[in-house]
Amino acid sequence: MILIDRQRCARCGGCIDVCPEGALTLAEARLVVSRACTDCGSCLSACPMGALHHGGEAAAPGLLPSLRRRYDVIVVGAGPGGSVAAETAARAGLSVLLLEKRQEIGSPVRCAEGVGHEALASFITPDPRWIAAEVTRAEINASTGGTTRTLRADGGRGYILERRLFDRVLAERAAAVGAEVRVKAAVNGLLIEDGRVRGVRVRRYDLGEGPCEVEVEAQVVIAADGVEGQLGRWAGLTAPLPLRDTMVCAQYLLAGIEIDPACTSYFIDYSLAPGGYAWIFPKGEGRANVGLGVQADLWRDVAGPRTVLGFLDRFIEERPFLARGYPVTLVAGNVPVALPPTRLVSDGFMLVGDAARQVDPLTGGGIINAMAAGHLAARTAAEAIAGGDTSASRLAPYAEAWHRERGRKMERNYRLRERFAPASRADERFLQAFALAVG
Ligand SMILES: Cc1cc2nc3c(=O)[nH]c(=O)nc-3n(C[C@H](O)[C@H](O)[C@H](O)COP(=O)(O)OP(=O)(O)OC[C@H]3O[C@@H](n4cnc5c(N)ncnc54)[C@H](O)[C@@H]3O)c2cc1C
Ligand code: SF4
Ligand code: SF4
Repeated sequence: MILIDRQRCARCGGCIDVCPEGALTLAEARLVVSRACTDCGSCLSACPMGALHHGGEAAAPGLLPSLRRRYDVIVVGAGPGGSVAAETAARAGLSVLLLEKRQEIGSPVRCAEGVGHEALASFITPDPRWIAAEVTRAEINASTGGTTRTLRADGGRGYILERRLFDRVLAERAAAVGAEVRVKAAVNGLLIEDGRVRGVRVRRYDLGEGPCEVEVEAQVVIAADGVEGQLGRWAGLTAPLPLRDTMVCAQYLLAGIEIDPACTSYFIDYSLAPGGYAWIFPKGEGRANVGLGVQADLWRDVAGPRTVLGFLDRFIEERPFLARGYPVTLVAGNVPVALPPTRLVSDGFMLVGDAARQVDPLTGGGIINAMAAGHLAARTAAEAIAGGDTSASRLAPYAEAWHRERGRKMERNYRLRERFAPASRADERFLQAFALAVG
């Protein structure tokens, strides 16, 4: 039976129609081969990626210029944190490699896409190409014991992004100033020598013929590999995320609804979204990101649906103005609402963004925090490299700057979330803090 290299497969479907046995099908996220396969080999000729093979290693297609074996900085993950880090490091004159395991930067989206104007504008001029809607109002609905209280705020300017485009634009900016960007390049190990990170092991498809796994060295590795990131664990900085610090989220992009196009809405209600909240973020033209996040250790004990998606479906069904819409996209993803690890750096290694749990524990917002951390980390890395010392103590100013500029506030919000039991977050003091956090 033919073998599929799933990491290499681009899920284009090109091989399916050439199979005489009808043995190949494209499930949503992967190609599947059935027992009907006679190993005739026809599909190998139809695959642009070299993803099919009879056994052993698949052939490397050699599409792009070769990677070098050594860079000043390797950034892992081309989310907002990684791309800003790569851009900052490249602007400082360093040789930079930005590695992304997905085949399309920014896709699939795992986000409600809301950001504040001022914070965003301090990094990049807002551009209608990647902004779906501008919002100027927020409404927080808090319910407990059948009573609902609503806080309304006008004038807080913000945006609902098109992250699929936004993330790519950030990576393009890094490339424009000299960072080498690679997609479908998954880091599957760290090179560690005497406790010091010296580089990464990467599965790549752009080196021409030869082995598919290569070791690339760097003076500093910046791990911006997001919520699913493993590099922090491999470096000994992070431990598994406790369930109570994990927000489990589901979201639809609903089309065909009528809502205030300039108002974001939040719903805090323990029975609706245990330990979290539901949101409606307008995206223009009768569309909105409608989602909710629940605390992972709580929701299964609450009477109601048996999946988080079920909680979302119920939220929508109970609101006729939403129920008349249709989901055109489903997003599932988790948010770490935890304290950051004790150490954000080790010798030759830095952690950034969701990988470093740099998310606001009250709101789950992490886009701007990741960008800020990426910038601070790369700036510190550049100074350390210029000084010829990339030990943990020389990289530590990044952790200090992060703590001073944003981390302290995140820790305060974490403690606040701890102080109010999940079922008592309709409390006036919690709501005021939540309102401040959403801007
Ligand atoms: C449902 C939901 C709603 C959200 N809503 C908001 C919101 O409205 N506003 C907000 O500010 N934040 C929101 N967030 C959080 C926000 O999406 C994240 O905080 C943000 O994306 C973090 O950026 P990052 O660069 O750290 O990581 P990511 O954006 O997660 O990027 C990490 C990248 O690393 C890549 N990667 C991982 N491992 C490897 C590897 N081994 N090799 C190569 N590449 C790798 C991944 O493919 C990914 O592209 C939401 C999150 C969820 C799940
Ligand atoms: S080897 Fe032949 S029978 Fe098997 S999946 Fe490919 S085309 Fe189909
Ligand atoms: S042709 Fe190649 S890349 Fe496309 S679906 Fe088939 S195996 Fe995957």
